[in-house]
Amino acid sequence: MHWVDSTVKNQEGPQIVSTGISPSGPIHLGNLREIITGDLLFRGCRDKGLKSELIYLADDMDPLRKKYPFLSDEYEAQVGKPLRHIPAPDGKGLYSDYFLNPFIKSASELGIFPRIIKAGDLYRDGQMGEVIRIAIQNIDKIRNLIETISGRELEKEWFPYNPICSSCGRINSTSGYELKGDLVSYTCKCGHTGESNIFKEEGKLPWRIEWPAKWKVLGVTIEPFGKDHGTVGGSYDTGKAIAENIYGYPAPLPLMFERILLKGKGAMHSSTGNVIPASEILSFCPPEIVRFLMSRVPSTRHIEFDPGMGFLSLMDEYQRIVKDQKPEDSRIVELSSPFGLDKKEVIDYRHIATLVQIYDDPKKILSIIKSTGVETSLEEVSKTMQLARHWIVTYAPESFKFSILPKNQPVKISDEERAVISDFITWAQLPDTQWDATSIHNAIHSIIKEHGIEPADGFRIFYSILIGKERGPRLGFFLSAMDKGALLERLKFV
Ligand SMILES: [Zn+2]
Repeated sequence: MHWVDSTVKNQEGPQIVSTGISPSGPIHLGNLREIITGDLLFRGCRDKGLKSELIYLADDMDPLRKKYPFLSDEYEAQVGKPLRHIPAPDGKGLYSDYFLNPFIKSASELGIFPRIIKAGDLYRDGQMGEVIRIAIQNIDKIRNLIETISGRELEKEWFPYNPICSSCGRINSTSGYELKGDLVSYTCKCGHTGESNIFKEEGKLPWRIEWPAKWKVLGVTIEPFGKDHGTVGGSYDTGKAIAENIYGYPAPLPLMFERILLKGKGAMHSSTGNVIPASEILSFCPPEIVRFLMSRVPSTRHIEFDPGMGFLSLMDEYQRIVKDQKPEDSRIVELSSPFGLDKKEVIDYRHIATLVQIYDDPKKILSIIKSTGVETSLEEVSKTMQLARHWIVTYAPESFKFSILPKNQPVKISDEERAVISDFITWAQLPDTQWDATSIHNAIHSIIKEHGIEPADGFRIFYSILIGKERGPRLGFFLSAMDKGALLERLKFV
């Protein structure tokens, strides 16, 4: 059984799977694990016949914690204000939307269409009013739960509601102290004193209470979260206790997921810039591969993503399991497909990444791909060419890059090496020669063997003549992709 299906196997009745994020910076590949894991669990419930929904909660009432390196100095003055009360870095619209909108677009490309809920709208529309009131009425019980479970002592003035200062706009510099009717009285470090209406967008619950409060308000039944929330005494543990003891609501089924590390660079953090933004990954990686990256291993295992050659190996692996159609892999393929298509073939990305370095013409490349027996369309080839070009320029190691040398460029080779080329030309011109990747590969192999040359040395002769490098793309594919007449002319010249 796939880990997604075994996670949800005991769920019964309608399901609401919730994920979310604080949209404080570029949403990156690591954050995609959260929404993709949520979508996988949603599909697991749906496929088991349960009425299910995926929701995505944008925590846009969270304060800007600091001026991140990607922000201009003017943002120093915005620190402490809710993200949805701050202007966007491009000056158009809200800060939180500026980071949220591209993410929603990336999610849709991945076949993920959650109901987007903005936390600020919940407060604005009064949906949080009652849970705030309950929290304040149970201040001692909640304090006790948090202190006992987290082992962390709360300040004496701690209050389970953070008002927004109506004078300076900050949410992290106020102290609420009393609820009268619907109004919480507060003081602010800026010197202002005032009142916040708990049924309006005038404050928010602290995270450890807000999380379980939202479970109740939204009816959440399943929630995946990063391991920083899942430590012993962490916010899931306190959230569960608050949900059950204060709100009388059963905590959702938890699923902890591990981080995604960038190969050689460690964990991704928006604040350090060590990230691949979600939109960036989709500019070189087909969406099914992003999903495959997450669905192929249990969420509790960390993933080390290598955008270089490791990425091509991942493509190869996906292509292999789709092609082999083993029953045990069929669920992974199904869950990886953004739109649930039953695709029998996967386009050979590695091959196209080679071909785009020789040709610019999608029709030419389509005919080459089709000649290898893969059924595909011009549209798909053009799309993959675009992805592959971006990958080559940005992530491909030097060893993968090449350009065809000018036709008449002299090359120094030995007589023995010239004899190999000569034999190859003879073979290529035989009337019954099959001009395909495998036949070419086999022919070269046997020719260099006859000359007593090591395979790697034999292949190098071809690479040095054609691209001036020691190594290059898989030789059979490479030569079969080139125009045969022009190739033989080039080889005859040496
Ligand atoms: Zn203030």
